[in-house]
Amino acid sequence: MNCVDCGKPVEPVAAALTTKIVSPQATEFRCLDCLAKVFSTSRERLLDAARAYRDRGCLRFQGIKF
Ligand SMILES: [Zn+2]
Repeated sequence: MNCVDCGKPVEPVAAALTTKIVSPQATEFRCLDCLAKVFSTSRERLLDAARAYRDRGCLRFQGIKF
């Protein structure tokens, strides 16, 4: 799966964030950097959000490295 904006491979955590905060039925995926641009934030803040979801037990974020 490649980023619809830049064509780089989409990181597993970016795919998980997309189905979590964009839509469970998302069909377009972006890499962390492009996702950060869309949300006017930084990849560090996206990773913080992913860690928070993981700590709360969200299954999307279990078993992937980030
Ligand atoms: Zn990208």
